[in-house]
Amino acid sequence: MSANGLLIIGSSQAGVQLAVSLRALGHAGGITLLGDENHRPYQRPALSKEFLQGIITKESLIYRTQAYWDEHRIKVVKNERVVRIDKHSDGSGVAHARSGEVFGFDRLALALGARARRLQVEGADLPGVLYLRNADDALELKARVPVVHDVVVIGGGFIGIEAATSLRKLGKNVTLVEAGPRLVARAVGPETSEYLAKHHAENGIEIVVGAQVTRIVANGDAVGGVEVNGRVVPADLVLIGVGVVPNTELAQSIGLACENGIRVDRYAVASDGMTIAVGDVANLPNPVPGAPEGDRVRFESVNNAIEQAKVAAYAITGRREEYAGIPWFWSNQGDLKLQIAGLSTGHDRTLVRRDEEKGRFSVLYYRGDRIIAADCVNTPLDFMAVKAALAQRASIPYDEATDPSIPLKSITRSETA
Ligand SMILES: Cc1cc2nc3c(=O)[nH]c(=O)nc-3n(C[C@H](O)[C@H](O)[C@H](O)COP(=O)(O)OP(=O)(O)OC[C@H]3O[C@@H](n4cnc5c(N)ncnc54)[C@H](O)[C@@H]3O)c2cc1C
Repeated sequence: MSANGLLIIGSSQAGVQLAVSLRALGHAGGITLLGDENHRPYQRPALSKEFLQGIITKESLIYRTQAYWDEHRIKVVKNERVVRIDKHSDGSGVAHARSGEVFGFDRLALALGARARRLQVEGADLPGVLYLRNADDALELKARVPVVHDVVVIGGGFIGIEAATSLRKLGKNVTLVEAGPRLVARAVGPETSEYLAKHHAENGIEIVVGAQVTRIVANGDAVGGVEVNGRVVPADLVLIGVGVVPNTELAQSIGLACENGIRVDRYAVASDGMTIAVGDVANLPNPVPGAPEGDRVRFESVNNAIEQAKVAAYAITGRREEYAGIPWFWSNQGDLKLQIAGLSTGHDRTLVRRDEEKGRFSVLYYRGDRIIAADCVNTPLDFMAVKAALAQRASIPYDEATDPSIPLKSITRSETA
């Protein structure tokens, strides 16, 4: 590679991991890690949890010290937004930033992530109507918290629930409205949705499912409420969490195939055979062992950003290593810790392990006799056992798993046993 080296656009979870993994693999070429946010690269998950609750500071979200970047010769550029890319057929080219700066590259990696989906409803642009995707959003939300009483969260996905439980912990009146029939329907089964809804309602969050938000109502110059199913729920703060949109525009502009994200192969390489795409922006072949042929997924998780960036680092250094781990995810919701192992898509039966007294709850998902996923609430041992079983292609017999007092690990059987 010439002096230009690798340009990584997007300096968050996936971009940071790619740079760090490349140096760990001994890659000696130049690396520029460029992002449009005016912050040093930081982690997002705590924005809706510990950071919002005031348990940790902004400083503790920062990934690496400047000393690390200097020592590893990774040039970190912040506050530069790439608006155009000129790319040659060999994969090299020039990225143009909005400021007029240009960044040459021999190879390009797109770690552009996703942005909050905007809610198209009257009043959505009123002051006090917020989204939560990045540190600036979180800082604005946090600044308003001391002066608000009534919060309406629109969207019963992970971000909405996490923020709702954090705001409830801070003493706010919180109403959570979800358009679908249940919470986090895209990611967990009905049993888990029901468990979460019951728990959060018991902790004082009013939950409305099947909620039609018709408009956001003003009170003077600011937000005053949300019209839901014909009634106005008072709100001096509205937080919208209705999903994300992958940032594919730059990739499309240079002719890369995109379809719910930038299409990549098992090695995180896009359709031109050179450009890398990793993290929330990438649409990849389903990496779960035994997944249906041709199935593709786009994850929105830390685990995926890390694992896919590692695969990409191997690809850049000339090694073809496939995505190894089992997809997993966590979501802290007040005093609940939900952990998900595997993907439940295509399951044909479920098994619920519930211990009301100890506040533990897991749902195991099976396709035929094979366990394919689990949702685990305050049951880290179940989570670890299922994750390990999936990785080893081991089985956890359905009939033996029904008793929650029996550790799953003790009944896990390897296929060859
Ligand atoms: C509040 C919150 C809580 C979360 N909690 C969890 C959790 O508990 N568990 C979990 O697994 N995951 C969680 N996630 C998801 C996780 O943070 C994401 O999956 C992860 O950040 C994806 O990393 P990424 O690098 O692919 O994309 P992103 O984090 O979206 O980063 C992409 C970066 O690229 C920048 N960028 C985009 N376009 C340009 C451009 N043209 N020029 C320059 N820069 C550009 C963006 O501004 C951004 O900084 C959470 C996310 C949020 C927002």
